[in-house]
Amino acid sequence: MRLPTHKTKIVCTIGPASRSEAILERLMLQGMNVARLNFAHGTLQGHKEDIGCIRAVAERLQCHCMIMADLPGPKIRIGKLMDEPLLLEKGSEVVLTVKDVVGTFNQIPVEYKRLPESVSPGSLIFLNDGFIQLQVEKVSEEEVFCRTVIGGPLLSHKGLNLPGVKIFADAVSETDLEFVAFALQEGVHAFGVSFAETADDIRKVKGFAQGRGESAYVVAKIERAEAIDNFDAILSATDAIMIARGDLGVQIPLQEVPAVQKKLIHKANLWGRPVITATQMLVSMTENIRPTRAEVSDVANAILDGTDAVMLSEETAIGRYPVEAVEMTSKIATSAERERKAVGALADLPAYFRTGAGSVNPSVEDIVSVNAVESANALNVRYIVTNMQSKGVPCLISRFKPDCWILSCGVDEKRTNIPVLSYGVHPVCLDVETNGLADMATRFLGKEGMVEKGERVILVEDESVNDMQKASLIKIIGA
Ligand code: PEP
Repeated sequence: MRLPTHKTKIVCTIGPASRSEAILERLMLQGMNVARLNFAHGTLQGHKEDIGCIRAVAERLQCHCMIMADLPGPKIRIGKLMDEPLLLEKGSEVVLTVKDVVGTFNQIPVEYKRLPESVSPGSLIFLNDGFIQLQVEKVSEEEVFCRTVIGGPLLSHKGLNLPGVKIFADAVSETDLEFVAFALQEGVHAFGVSFAETADDIRKVKGFAQGRGESAYVVAKIERAEAIDNFDAILSATDAIMIARGDLGVQIPLQEVPAVQKKLIHKANLWGRPVITATQMLVSMTENIRPTRAEVSDVANAILDGTDAVMLSEETAIGRYPVEAVEMTSKIATSAERERKAVGALADLPAYFRTGAGSVNPSVEDIVSVNAVESANALNVRYIVTNMQSKGVPCLISRFKPDCWILSCGVDEKRTNIPVLSYGVHPVCLDVETNGLADMATRFLGKEGMVEKGERVILVEDESVNDMQKASLIKIIGA
């Protein structure tokens, strides 16, 4: 088994630039951990083919690549444009229509039928994550007449935001649930829930999967002001979060996004929920082979603040340099991780559980995770070995972002279903269940040549004492 050079996870959005087996292989070799299929675009047949391709490549390379189906949710989008890009000039008149037409200057179709009743003269409409801004001048039954305030090129199916306007749609629609059913059938169990507002939105997807005898690993996408208000409840229900800065940056004032991002990362770390920081991380690499200095700093700062994963969107979906974008992300991660201790953003986290607010009613898992990390640091071990659990001990250990690897061991015949979003957690798939973790860990690490004779390894495991009692153990073994 080959461990990557970096512990930060890399999520890549798959699209025309990356769906071939040849490119997928290069993305995985450069460090892609999660392939994100954006169900807002494409067809089910297309997603099925992508899932097959990702599986085949991961299997061939014997590596783990989680597949995440990102559900569209109630994102409002424009429809298909006749010629693209459609260049909207500052000051020009633009008509948005709810009629089912192919778009031109005079009629840009919008999929949200309640658009005319949701806006009034003076309202601002943002297209393409706010890069294009329109001001409403007049509204009719099916049309919204606008003036272009900020112009730019517009592509088919780009998003439309109405900041501060209540959207009459559930965060998880019937169509989303049909996508969940499809994905589960294809063996995909991780879902991005777009525009989550409350913990119920997360429970709806989990409950739907449960009703089918399956389980869903949910990534709550934080992109609404309401989600920030309900963040604690969402954290308690979800497996992971994504800071979806594209929509977030139009739903709340753009200049507030950096501080909100830091606060969300910090809180998710306290709860032990992995965080993906997403959108425009290296966006200039969509066209250029080198990123800007600002983008490199953005990725590094998110990592130093405690993000578990960074996500590439158009960089890998439609960009000219998808492989180079992943290579650059992994270089930035390797370099930032080396400086983690010197920067010290997470240095106070163990104290939070020892003497701070986290020491009031901590869970057994909280105490086990602090002790495992402190033992690992004190003994300078290279590995903490645990059982594979989605929301359990591996994530809780990972939140401290230790220098050592957290090997999360279990049996899973499909290498694409294992949750791999937590920083430094590396899944180890076993063909068969062995007699306990210690036995398995020593044999596996020895066989793979990953430990020196007698090297110390920390094991964290749950043991059944009898039918009623369970013991949580930290063992320090010499391999
Ligand atoms: C975002 O808005 O930042 C995001 C990741 O969501 P999507 O790409 O689905 O619009």
